[in-house]
Amino acid sequence: MNAPVEIEPRRPLTRRETIELAVRQEGRCGCGCGVKLNALTEGVIDEHVIPLEWGGSNDLPNRQLWRHPCAKAKTVKEAPQTAKVKRLAGETCSAPTRRPLKSRGFDKTRRRTMSGRVEVIA
Ligand SMILES: [Zn+2]
Repeated sequence: MNAPVEIEPRRPLTRRETIELAVRQEGRCGCGCGVKLNALTEGVIDEHVIPLEWGGSNDLPNRQLWRHPCAKAKTVKEAPQTAKVKRLAGETCSAPTRRPLKSRGFDKTRRRTMSGRVEVIA
């Protein structure tokens, strides 16, 4: 049995945590592009390194400050996988959670007798 993945509700960073991350990242984007964070011109997003939907947590080690353009690209890149996780968790109505498997059907024009002989019915 697959237990459903527990998705933590999104928790915003406290002011203190935001400062701590900014210092840890030396004021640069968490994605590794090396560009300085600038909340006024680009906007800064607090990212979950491992998305919550994928089982990531709200704890500080899983948090980074990203430039808005980088964060947006990350979200787009992760979208298909995130959609799948949500679908499996039954969070969206985009796909039925239970769809009966359809059989190809049996050939009803023949039947095998107890002796193993195949006889045509129709
Ligand atoms: Zn970046």
